[in-house]
Amino acid sequence: MAKFIFVTGGVLSSLGKGIASASIGALLKNRGIKVSMLKFDPYINVDPGTMSPYQHGEVFVTRDGAETDLDLGHYERFIGIEMLSYNNVTAGQIYCAVIEKERRGEYLGKTIQVVPHITGEIQERIRKVAIKDKAEVVITEIGGTVGDIESLPFLEAIRQFRLREGRENTLFIHLTLVPYIPSAAELKTKPTQHSVGKLREIGIQPDIILCRTQVPLTQEAREKISLFCSVEKKDVIQAIDVDNIYEVPLRFEREGLTDNILEKLGLSAPEKDLKKWQVWVERTNSLQKEVKISIVGKYVKLKDAYKSLNEALTHAGVANEVKVRARWIEAEDVERNPEVHLSDSQGILVPGGFGERGIEGKIMAAQYAREKRIPFLGICLGMQCAVIEFARNVAGLREANSTEFSPHTPHPVIDLLPEQRKVKSKGGTMRLGSYPCKLKRNSFSFQAYGREIIYERHRHRYEFNNHYRKVLVQRGLRIAGVFPERNLVEIVEISDHPWFVATQFHPEFQSSPFSPHPLFRDFIKAALNFNGPAK
Ligand code: GLN
Repeated sequence: MAKFIFVTGGVLSSLGKGIASASIGALLKNRGIKVSMLKFDPYINVDPGTMSPYQHGEVFVTRDGAETDLDLGHYERFIGIEMLSYNNVTAGQIYCAVIEKERRGEYLGKTIQVVPHITGEIQERIRKVAIKDKAEVVITEIGGTVGDIESLPFLEAIRQFRLREGRENTLFIHLTLVPYIPSAAELKTKPTQHSVGKLREIGIQPDIILCRTQVPLTQEAREKISLFCSVEKKDVIQAIDVDNIYEVPLRFEREGLTDNILEKLGLSAPEKDLKKWQVWVERTNSLQKEVKISIVGKYVKLKDAYKSLNEALTHAGVANEVKVRARWIEAEDVERNPEVHLSDSQGILVPGGFGERGIEGKIMAAQYAREKRIPFLGICLGMQCAVIEFARNVAGLREANSTEFSPHTPHPVIDLLPEQRKVKSKGGTMRLGSYPCKLKRNSFSFQAYGREIIYERHRHRYEFNNHYRKVLVQRGLRIAGVFPERNLVEIVEISDHPWFVATQFHPEFQSSPFSPHPLFRDFIKAALNFNGPAK
C-alpha cells in the first residue's frame, strides 16, 4: 500500500513549491524508496498547451505527449523518473471527466456537486498515480496558494483523502514565507501563522512547515511557528534561499527532513549519503571559466518561459567544467542590428516558439552563426528558421518561408503535413511527445549521442518540407536525423561548419544534472573551442 505526501503553498506564489516537492522526492528516492509525483493545477484549462508563455511559463512535454506544467520538468530532473500524462491533472480535466460521466448516466440520477463528485474524482487521480507507477510514496503538489477560490476543491479532496487512507499513511507539508524585515532586523512569522490558520479553517493541520527565508531561521522564529501553528519544533524546516536549486535537497537533509518524513509515515529506509548531489553542487558552484551563449528568442524577459532550456545549458556547462553565461536577446533587436548583438558570442542558440513576431531576427541569427562559423543550436522553431535561412541565402530560394508566417510563400520549405491541415481545434493537436529518430553516422549528432536510434520529444505543428530536401542537400545541408516511419526530417546540420545542429524536437526536456544532454554538451564544447568569428 502506498503512502501519500501532500505539498501545499501559502502566503504567496513563486516560493518554489515545485522545487521543494522535487527535492523531497529526490531525498526519498535516494533512500531507495519508489517515489512518484503528481501535480494538481487548479485552473480550468484542460492543459497549459493553449496558454501563452506570459500566463504559464514553459509547457513541459512528457514522453507520451502530454503538455504539462513546468514543475514536471523539475520532478524529472531531480528524481530521474519519467512523468506521464496522468502525473499532471488540472481542474479542467477533473470537470471534463465528471461531466462526461454525468452525460453517460454513470451517476444514476444524482445531483452532481463539487463535494462529493469533483472531490471524489480528484482523489481517484491520486490513487491512479500510486497504482500506475507502483509507487511506495506519491508526492502530490497542489498548485496555487491556500486561500485561492480555485484550489478549495483540491484541498477539500486531500482532507477527505486523509480520512479515508488513514493518518499514518498521509502527510501534509505546507510551504510558507518567513520574511525578514531589515528595519526591524526581525523575521516575521505572522504570514505563516495566517496561512496555516487558513488551512486549518478547511480542516487541514499541516504536519511539517517549510519556511522559505532569506536569512537563517532563528530559534525564536522556530519556536513561535511551532507554538502558533501547532507543530513540533523539529517540524519547522528552514528553506533558505540558494543560488543553485540543486542545493535544496542537501539543505533539507541537513534539517533532518528525510528522517522526519520517514518516521511520520512509518517507513524505514537505510541511511544513505548524498555524495552525488554534493559533488555536483560543489562542482557547479566552483566553476571559474565562462562561455558566452547568445539566445535569440521572443520571451527573453520571462525567466520561466525557457526553464528546461536554461537547465540543460547549466548541465552542459558543468559537464564541460564551465559556467554558461546565457545572454537573452530579443529577436526583434537582432533584426535591427545582428552585429551589435551577436558579434561577441561563442555560441548562438535559437529556441522554440510560435507566431511571426521576431522571426526575421531569428533567421538572421542562424545566418550570422552560419557565416561567421559560430557554433549553433536551433531548437524546433529555431530549426525551422535555420532551414529557411539556408534555403534563402545558400540555395537561392529568396522568398523561402514557413507557411506559418507566410501562407502563400512560393517556397514553403516548412509546411503543414496533410493531416495537420485538417486540424481545427488547438488543444493537444500538435505533433506531441516522443518519436524515434535515426541518425546519420557521419554527423555532429551521431558523434554526440554515440548511437543510431534516439528518442526525443516534440511539440510543433509544422515540418520540414521533403519537396525541398534534394536542393537543400545538394547545397550542403545535411539531413542528420529522420523519423523513419514517416520519413520526417528531425535534424539538419551544416557539414561545412565547426558545429551547426538544428533539431525539430526539444532536446532540453531530457537533460538532467546527472545525465546532461549530449547535444547541449557538445554545443557548449564547440562554443568553448570557438576562437573568434570568421571574417
Ligand atoms: N511554431 C512552430 C510549429 O508549430 C515551432 C513550434 C516550436 O518551436 N515548439 O511547428
